[in-house]
Amino acid sequence: MSTSIRSAKRKPGREKPDHEVVIVGAGLGGIGAAIALQRKGIHDFVIVDKWDRVGGTWHANTYPGVAVDIPSFIYSFSYEQRSDWSRVFAPGNELQHYAEDMVDKYWLREKLRLGTTITSAEFDEEANIWRARTDGGAEITARFVVAAVGGLERPKMPDIEGIDSFGGTLMHTALWDSDVSLKGKKVAVIGTGATSLQLVPSIADETGHLEVYQRTPIWVFPKRDSEVTGVGRAVLSNKWARSAIRMVGTVATEVGMSGMVAGPTWFVNANRRLAEIPVRRWMRSQVKDPVVREKLIPTYGLGCKRPSMSNDYLKTFNRGDVSLVTESIEKITETGIRTADGVDHDVDVLICATGFSLWEKGSIPSFPVRGRGGKDLSEFWDTQRYQSYQGVSVPDYPNMFTITGPYGFVLGSYIWMIEATAAHLSRAIAETKRRGATVCEIKQHEHEKYFAKSLRRQSKNFLFTSTCDGSNTYYINSHGDSPFRPSTHGEMYWQNRHYDLDVYRYSNDSVPARPKVAVAAAGENS
Ligand SMILES: Cc1cc2nc3c(=O)[nH]c(=O)nc-3n(C[C@H](O)[C@H](O)[C@H](O)COP(=O)(O)OP(=O)(O)OC[C@H]3O[C@@H](n4cnc5c(N)ncnc54)[C@H](O)[C@@H]3O)c2cc1C
Repeated sequence: MSTSIRSAKRKPGREKPDHEVVIVGAGLGGIGAAIALQRKGIHDFVIVDKWDRVGGTWHANTYPGVAVDIPSFIYSFSYEQRSDWSRVFAPGNELQHYAEDMVDKYWLREKLRLGTTITSAEFDEEANIWRARTDGGAEITARFVVAAVGGLERPKMPDIEGIDSFGGTLMHTALWDSDVSLKGKKVAVIGTGATSLQLVPSIADETGHLEVYQRTPIWVFPKRDSEVTGVGRAVLSNKWARSAIRMVGTVATEVGMSGMVAGPTWFVNANRRLAEIPVRRWMRSQVKDPVVREKLIPTYGLGCKRPSMSNDYLKTFNRGDVSLVTESIEKITETGIRTADGVDHDVDVLICATGFSLWEKGSIPSFPVRGRGGKDLSEFWDTQRYQSYQGVSVPDYPNMFTITGPYGFVLGSYIWMIEATAAHLSRAIAETKRRGATVCEIKQHEHEKYFAKSLRRQSKNFLFTSTCDGSNTYYINSHGDSPFRPSTHGEMYWQNRHYDLDVYRYSNDSVPARPKVAVAAAGENS
C-alpha cells in the first residue's frame, strides 16, 4: 500500500487501535502496571510476554539457591501482602507463584498473550498509535505502550577469549538447565556477585570439585533468614503487625540503602565506615585460611556495588573441595580455563554467574523502539546518555512509558519502584483519556529539569569518589553516569503519585506521513 493512499484513507489520530494499552512483560512490573491501570478504570489492555509463564525474573532464574535478598514482607506489593512465605527470604519459585496468584486474583489471565516476543515497536505519528511487531509476524496496535521489560533481561556472558571453543557444558545462571547434573563434576563458577553467593553454597555438596573465579570480592552480610512457622506466621497473619514489621523494614532499608546514595555526604561516609567495621570482622570470622580470607575481603567501600547476604557463602571456602581462584582468566580452552599464571584448570561444567547487560545499548528494552521521526530509543540513550523523566517517560516517545527507566530506581525493593512508576503512568494515561487526547508526551523542559536535578544530586554521590576504586561497579555505566534515582524511596513514591499532570503535553496533533515512509512505500511498489 502506498503512503499517499494510507494518508488519504486515515483520519489522523482516529484509527482505532487493537487495544488501549499494550504492556510488554508479564513480570511483577507488568502485573503491577496492569493493576494500576485497572484502578484507573482502564481495562482494555493486553500483556505480552515471551515466556510461557508469568513472573519474569522469577520464572527465568531457577538456579539452585535462588531467593530474594530483601525480606519477603518488604519485597511484595503493599496491597498484596502475604503471611504464607515459607522463609523470611522466600525462594524464587514462591515469587513466581505469587505472580501467578496475582494474575488470577486480579482477573489478568485473559489479558495474557504468553509465548510472544515483541520484536519492535514504532510510534505511528499519523495515527497516534504504537505498532508493535511480534516474532510470529503479527502486529499489535495500541494507543499506549508500557515497557515492563525489567532491567535484567539480557544475560551477560563474560567477554573472554575462547569461550565459544569450550567443549564442556556452558551455562549462565539465568538460563539454568536443570537436566545438567553437577554430581561429581569439576565445576567452575565465574563471578562472585549476588547470584554466585546464592549458587555456590547450594551446589558445593553436589560437585566433585568447585572452583570459584573472583575478580572483585563482594561485601557479605549475615542473612537473618529463617523458616516462617508457627508464631511467625501468626504474627504475619495479623494485618497490623504485618504492616508494622513492613514499616520497620522499610525505614531500615531507606536508611541503609537509599540513604547511602541520597543522604548528605557526612551521613553517608559515617554510616558506611561504621557499618564496614563489624561486617569486615564477621566476614573474617567465617573463613579459616588466612590467605583465602583476605582475598575475600573487599578493598573498596561498602555500598559501591550491591552488597548481599549469605550465612554459607564464605564458609564454603573452608571445604577441601572448593577453591577460590583470584588469578585473572587468560582464556577459555576446549577443556577448561587457563589463568594468567599459565595454569590450566580442567572444567566439566562452566557456569557464568556474570549478571546481565544493564545500561548498555540494546538492553532495555531489548527490541528496537522508534519514536517520533523513527528515532531509536536505544541509539538515543547510547549517544545522549541514559535519561528519562522519573524513570517513566522520554520526550519524542509519546504514549510510551517504562517501569524501570533511567533515574527511576532507588536502591532497595524493586517492588516499591514498580508501584510508584505504575501509579505514575496510569495517572498520565487516565488524564489523556479524560482530556479526550490521543497524545501524551512529557514536555522537553520538564524532562530536562528532572535530568539536570538528578545529575546535580548524583555528582555528590560517593560512588564517584576514590572509595569505590577497584569495585568494578555496575552502578556506573559507560557514560560515567549512575542512572539510579538519587533520592529516597519516600520521595520516589510521592513524586510519582503527585507530579503535576501538566508536566505532560496532551493533544490530538498528528504528523502527516514522513518522506522516509514514502521512500519505503515506493520501494515496496516498485
Ligand atoms: C536472581 C535475581 C534476584 C533478584 N532479587 C531481587 C531482590 O531480592 N529484591 C529486589 O528488589 N529485586 C531483585 N531482583 C530484581 C528483579 O528483577 C526485580 O525485583 C523484579 O522482579 C523485576 O520485575 P519486572 O517485571 O520489572 O522485570 P522482569 O521480572 O525482568 O520481567 C520482564 C518481563 O518482560 C519480558 N520481556 C522482555 N522483553 C520482551 C519482549 N521483547 N517481548 C516479550 N516479553 C519481553 C520478559 O520475558 C520478562 O518476563 C532480582 C533479580 C534477579 C535476576
